Amino acid sequence: MTTAFYTHADCKRHEMGSWHPESPERLQAIEDQLIASRIDSLLEFREAPVADEKDLARVHTQDAIYRIRENCPGINSECQHFPLDADTLLNAYTWRAALRAAGAAIAATDAVIAGELDNAFCSVRPPGHHATPREAMGFCMFNNVAVAAKHAMEVHGLQRVVIVDFDVHHGNGTEEAFRDDPRVLMVSFFQHPFYPYTGTDRPAANMINLPIPAHSYGDVVRQAITEKWLPALHQHQPEMIFISAGFDAHKEDDMGQMGLVEADYSWITRQIMTIARQYSRGRIVSCLEGGYNLSALGRSVVAHIKVLAELD
Ligand SMILES: [Zn+2]
Repeated sequence: MTTAFYTHADCKRHEMGSWHPESPERLQAIEDQLIASRIDSLLEFREAPVADEKDLARVHTQDAIYRIRENCPGINSECQHFPLDADTLLNAYTWRAALRAAGAAIAATDAVIAGELDNAFCSVRPPGHHATPREAMGFCMFNNVAVAAKHAMEVHGLQRVVIVDFDVHHGNGTEEAFRDDPRVLMVSFFQHPFYPYTGTDRPAANMINLPIPAHSYGDVVRQAITEKWLPALHQHQPEMIFISAGFDAHKEDDMGQMGLVEADYSWITRQIMTIARQYSRGRIVSCLEGGYNLSALGRSVVAHIKVLAELD
């Protein structure tokens, strides 16, 4: 198995204030944990290229792209941050980081479809799954997974793809990008009721949205996945699988109130691997979304990657 790890130093230059939980240290925590667990030498490290604006435009409006490109403060600007909303801010490096984040997902998609890689994990930020076609929100600028899935369909001609989202929050941006697109099946679970308070009111037919009450543990999630995701995944027979890999449902993560542990992330990843082997020639591109307890994030990403790389 060849599993690639895509990242770029630019993704650590985007920051939204020292108070902000979506911090550059998240990527460092992941890299440290890869080294500590001695799996770093077993992965293929690749630098994330920048995405083109035309890649972003497959999902996002020109206005949404323009708002991020034109509002990043200058490097020597007195005002370091430009707020798009209360907790989604631009600094001097956000545009570049956002292009790298989407660029990683696109490059990983190209390499996996070309057969150079079996699968890939994109350790990137800003995250993407709350970014709608029209606006950045919830720490997200561009919807990295949505941009990559559109690329797979429109450039490589794939007819059926799956997006799996296991972040503690509902991926409202991804749902908006693909609502009623019969080529795409999106399966997710999320704490409910919870930010962004979407996903339960008339979800589109191609969405398997599983709202889960706060304080639920992995057994509840595993049962819901077994009963609701797996039959739909078998039915859709995806040619490729994209993962919005958020780790904020971890029990040590205060952003959410759920009780998942590393073994649950391993189990979920194994279910996805089984589907990918059966229908998709193993093709998976996984992109980092949330996960804010640095220790739990690093350990959970390692658990996820170990399964992708067949080391566990
Ligand atoms: Zn989240």
